[in-house]
Amino acid sequence: MRVKRQKKNRRTVRFFTVCFGFRQPFKVLCDGTFIHHLVANEITPADTVISDLLGGPVKLFTTRCVVAELEKLGKDFSESLEAAQMLSTATCEHEEAKAADECLSQVLGLQNTEHFFLGTQDADFRRKLQQESIVPLVFGLRNILLIDQPSDFQRETAKDSEKRRLNMTDTEKRLLAKRTSKIVASNRPEGTIANEEWGMPRVISTRNNALGVKDRPQFKRNRAKGPNPLSCMKKKKNNNTERRQFKSKAESNSGAQKEKKEGESDAKKRTRKRSKEGKSGPESTE
Ligand SMILES: [Zn+2]
Repeated sequence: MRVKRQKKNRRTVRFFTVCFGFRQPFKVLCDGTFIHHLVANEITPADTVISDLLGGPVKLFTTRCVVAELEKLGKDFSESLEAAQMLSTATCEHEEAKAADECLSQVLGLQNTEHFFLGTQDADFRRKLQQESIVPLVFGLRNILLIDQPSDFQRETAKDSEKRRLNMTDTEKRLLAKRTSKIVASNRPEGTIANEEWGMPRVISTRNNALGVKDRPQFKRNRAKGPNPLSCMKKKKNNNTERRQFKSKAESNSGAQKEKKEGESDAKKRTRKRSKEGKSGPESTE
């Protein structure tokens, strides 16, 4: 059960990271009700528990308005107030403290450009945000934490933004038309300077099209990388050994005929002849 729940939570986090660019460390904005729930149910240390929930490091935030609201609630919330004061402060520009939900709505905005998660126990507030903002919502249920699944609004927004990414904008269309007309104009007989100038982009545009599919078949040319080791190596070795034998013979001959210089030169000539014949092929052996 626990594993299943965790899988569900991770899938929700992945939805927001993939579709809306939420990145680690995840920023979690906490309201008073959420902080109080964490304290009252002893869900501590809060950042560790929440990072377990989201599957990545987290940084917890609150706002001055939330802290001010907790101050107003008196003694029963003194522990929660202390906890809230230890969190980082997300800047809201409220001179006078506003109601927490109003303040948080403004900090998030409809686009949630800062990519905040929001922790709140206020179910109405969560429902409202799900209908109008791109914010993943965290809440506590007794001593466990959960993430609300993406709402229909959030899924639709993700689909729309994906469509927008796939389709060309008007400026992109105009740019494409301009480029293609240039390329068509440059499609003159070969050898002209103009053609050479536009040759490169044309090749790129045909070879590297959107899907990376090559429009012309490309055959791999089988090039000989070297002699076939199975047929050649042995014979070569034999030739080498033969040559060495010849050489050693020639040398020994030359050694025997050390008395006459002419004889020595004869022997050298002979060895050269033989070595050449050996190189020309295996059939030409004497
Ligand atoms: Zn505020």
